[in-house]
Amino acid sequence: MLGLMQDWSMTLDKVLDHAAMNHARREIVSRSIEGPIVRTTYGDLRTRAKQVSHALVHCGVGIGDRVATLAWNTARHMEVWFGAMGIGAVLHTLNPRLMPEQIAWIANHAGDEVLCFDLTFLPIVEKMAPLLETVKHYVVFADRGAAPKSTLPNLVAYEDWIADRPAIVTWGQFDENTAAGLCYTSGTTGNPKGVLYSHRSNMIHAFVASGGDAFGLTSRDTVLPIVPMFHANAWALTFVCPMVGAKMVMPGAKLDGQSVYELLESEKVTLSAAVPTVWLMLNQYLRDTKSKLTTLKKVIIGGSAVPEAILRAFEEDFGVEVVHAWGMTEMSPMGTLCTMGPEEDGLDHESRIKLKLKQGRTPFTVEMKIVDDAGKDLPRDGKTFGRLLVRGPSITKVYFKGDGARNANGTALDEDGWFDTGDVATIDAKGFMNITDRAKDVIKSGGEWISSIEIENIAVGAPGVANAAVIGVYHPKWDERPLLIIQPKPGETPDKAAILAFLDGKIAKWWTPDDVAFVEAIPLGATGKINKLALRETFKDYRLPSAQAAE
Ligand code: AMP
Repeated sequence: MLGLMQDWSMTLDKVLDHAAMNHARREIVSRSIEGPIVRTTYGDLRTRAKQVSHALVHCGVGIGDRVATLAWNTARHMEVWFGAMGIGAVLHTLNPRLMPEQIAWIANHAGDEVLCFDLTFLPIVEKMAPLLETVKHYVVFADRGAAPKSTLPNLVAYEDWIADRPAIVTWGQFDENTAAGLCYTSGTTGNPKGVLYSHRSNMIHAFVASGGDAFGLTSRDTVLPIVPMFHANAWALTFVCPMVGAKMVMPGAKLDGQSVYELLESEKVTLSAAVPTVWLMLNQYLRDTKSKLTTLKKVIIGGSAVPEAILRAFEEDFGVEVVHAWGMTEMSPMGTLCTMGPEEDGLDHESRIKLKLKQGRTPFTVEMKIVDDAGKDLPRDGKTFGRLLVRGPSITKVYFKGDGARNANGTALDEDGWFDTGDVATIDAKGFMNITDRAKDVIKSGGEWISSIEIENIAVGAPGVANAAVIGVYHPKWDERPLLIIQPKPGETPDKAAILAFLDGKIAKWWTPDDVAFVEAIPLGATGKINKLALRETFKDYRLPSAQAAE
């Protein structure tokens, strides 16, 4: 027997309809790419998103067609986002931090038909254009009559493109399983793979993300999504904020400490979300200028592990709650959040800090387990490491065009429907998960595993250290031993012995790196994470002193 409730298709256009009906005057404030701060509201954003839909229909875009953006977080980007999704087109966020050839490869693979981009990316788009096989329309985010001179065919300024268009296109009215968004994985190994979100998967994920033990947002909040929309849907904030009617502050291209600080204070931001690199820059700025955070209550930190120094700076010095989160593009992206329950009330400060360094518990709808290399389930004892597998309604089943299939049935899942995250983790009896490494970054020393992430997190707190990375380097006796790579703070020359002494007692003795190397800058990948592949290439011929001694 089926239930007798209404068929209310969970399509994402309803999110913006809701915001425009109930929070029409709540603001979306953007730092424009041209510089000045611009303000709009959910009411106006919806009207303009409808105008985008009209322009897209005029370009021949319909259900399932791909509309690409190459843009920072701004209200205009959100207009195209909802304008495309509203008519059942697929919004494909391209990552401008990739090389132009890589972006072109991805756009061709996706079959993008329209490309909307920030003015500053014009040189990249012009360089890519001869390689683009499917893009028919180029739209630059610019004012009326302000399209720059360009070699691009039929380049139109965004405001000209949508000007005078009626806001009459009907949204929704398609199946909730229709594709809504496309985002390619960082592709540190092999070609990038497309993750194709549906309206339903994003809607469920946004409900979950808005929950009290997740982002816990209400219409009283002001949110600064620093995490880019091209990095897994800005971690759902572009859906959750309109869903609850929270004010949004969009940072545009400027993510340095000073620019972020200015927005946090001038717009009275209460919650923000970003990868650790951004927080390292803000932290440095706050220290250098002795500035205070007066309105910020909570920061969501994820994408890579939260360094202890950052956790302590926010919680101990600035009075801001840190929520450590883990996830991946394939998970929409949220997998776990480290929020404290009543059982944690009795913890003393140091135990709390220690717990908050873990990636946390799954919200409802995410299932998680660890297994050994043979696929056997491992215990939830907080000690045993294993491959981390996940399952749920907002997790990838198959990559776009069937890439990355692991199974005879053509999916990227195992026989029981689990997705292998490629991460290695422990899970404790209460469900707190702790990432110990990427499966490919874990250092295998004498048959045992050493977590590169754990050493990095501690090393980044050593005096004079701006950033730290650990990679495994060949060793004749142990196979691999850890090499610690340090990027010093500007103007400082930290000492090898002092750094190793700092680690002493904080990690197992046998985890102590065999050597320390110094670099001007630790290379970061396109989503702000340490690029271990590049480091391994740089240090591929590195000979550890201990290796020489063992030969
Ligand atoms: P991406 O799809 O680019 O977001 O990358 C996902 C990967 O980033 C995960 O599989 C993890 O390896 C890593 N990651 C994300 N969040 C965290 C975290 N809080 N701690 C450690 N690693 C993380």
